[in-house]
Amino acid sequence: MKKSDISRKDFLKSTGLSLAGLAFVPGLLHTQTGGTQESKTITSGNMYTLKNVRLETGFDYEADEIVATNTELFCVEIEGGTIKRIIPNQPGANAIDARGMLMLPSFRDMHIHLDKTLYADKWRAVRRSGGIKGMIALEQRTLREMLKNSTYKAERLIELLQSQGTGFARSHVNIEPTSRLDSLKNLEIALANKKDVFGAELVAFPQHGLYYTDSLPYMKEAAKMDIDFIGGLDPTNVDGSIERTLDTTVQLALDNNKGIDIHLHESGKSGLDTIEYLIAKVNENPVLKGKTFVSHAFALGTLEKNKQEAIAERLAAARIGIASTIPFGGLIMPVPALLKHGVDVITGNDSIVDYWSTMGTGSVLQKANLAAQLYGQVSEFGLSRMLKLATAGPIPLDDKGVQQWPKAGDDANIVLIDASCSAEAVSRVSPVKSLIYKGNIVY
Ligand SMILES: [Zn+2]
Repeated sequence: MKKSDISRKDFLKSTGLSLAGLAFVPGLLHTQTGGTQESKTITSGNMYTLKNVRLETGFDYEADEIVATNTELFCVEIEGGTIKRIIPNQPGANAIDARGMLMLPSFRDMHIHLDKTLYADKWRAVRRSGGIKGMIALEQRTLREMLKNSTYKAERLIELLQSQGTGFARSHVNIEPTSRLDSLKNLEIALANKKDVFGAELVAFPQHGLYYTDSLPYMKEAAKMDIDFIGGLDPTNVDGSIERTLDTTVQLALDNNKGIDIHLHESGKSGLDTIEYLIAKVNENPVLKGKTFVSHAFALGTLEKNKQEAIAERLAAARIGIASTIPFGGLIMPVPALLKHGVDVITGNDSIVDYWSTMGTGSVLQKANLAAQLYGQVSEFGLSRMLKLATAGPIPLDDKGVQQWPKAGDDANIVLIDASCSAEAVSRVSPVKSLIYKGNIVY
C-alpha cells in the first residue's frame, strides 16, 4: 500500500492515536485529495483539543552540563488554524489522545523541486555526463514528456513529505524555453489541490541559464505571477558572466517585490566572487536583506577556515541565508561557522527521485540527523539545536532552556512524534505519527 492510500482511520489505528473527541467536530470531515480514498481532514476555523501532548519545559543540568530535557503532558486547544490555549493535562477530557507523543513544530523543506520529479513514476538512475550543460541538454530532451503527469507526481511527492512530518516547502520551479511556464502552472494545480494540508513558496528557477538559453522573457512573465523568489544558476559556468546575470536577477526581484534564491554549485574563485557580488548588491538594496538566499554555495566549503568565518560574518550582516542539503563526501559545508555568526541556514531534500539525484528520503529530520553526525553535535543540547534545520523556524526550547514554542496564537503547524524529546527525535530520526497543518489534521 502506498503512503497516500493510507486512510486517516488506518493511520490512527496503526499509530494508536484515538479518534475520541472528534465527535464534537460535526460535519467537518472532507476528502483530502479529491480521490476515492478515505483520507480525511478537519477544515480550519474549527476547534478541537489534543490531550496527553508531551511538551518540552526546560533542560535538566548537572553542574553546567545539560544532561536531559524535561517534559510534561498538556492539553493543547486548537481553533481556526492556530494554537488557542495550552492548559494542564486532563487525561479524562473528551479530546484527541496524543498518547504522550512529543509535539514539535511541523517540518519545512526549504529546497526541493516539486515540479520535475520522477517520484511515483518510472525509475531512472542519475545520468550526469557533460557537467551542468550536459544536464541542461538532458532536460531539454526529457522535460516535455515529464510535464505530462507532473501535477500527479507533485501531489504524490507532497504526500511523501507529509508522511515525514513536513507541512511546508520552498520549491524551485523550472522556468526556461523548454517547459516555458508549464512546470509552474502544473505545480500550482497540485498546490491548489493540497492547499488545506500543505503550504509552499515558489522560486522561479531559470534552470537552463538566464542567458545560456533565452529564459529571460519567461522569467519576466513568471516574476509577475504568484511566486516568491527569483532563482538563478551558476552565472559564470552557465551564462559566462556574474555581473550581467546577477544584475538582472536583482532587478527582477526589486521590480516585482520578490526575494532571491540562486543555485550556486560553482566552487573556487567564481563561486566566491558570485557570493561577494551578491553581498554587495544586497547591501546596496537593503530591501533584499532577509529574503536573499544562496542554495548549495559549495564555494564556502572550499575556503580556508578563517576565510569561512569572515564571509559568514558578512553574510550574516547582509542577512543572506544559505540553503544547504548538508552534503556528505569530499565537501563539508561550514554550517557550524555560519550558524555561529547568525547566518540563516536552512535545508531541504532538493531531489527525491529525479535526473539530478535519487537519494532523497523526503525527511528533513534526517537532514538534521546527518548534520548532527557530520558536525559532532552529539550532546543533548547539540542534538536539540539541530532540530532548527528540520523546522526552519522555532524549536521548543531556546538556548537557555526557556520554552519558546508552542505559544497561544502560534500557527497550528504541528507534528506528533514518537520521541521523548527533540534530542532523541534528531538522533533516532523518530517516526512521525501525526501531522497537523494550519489546524487541519492531515493524518
Ligand atoms: Zn535545487
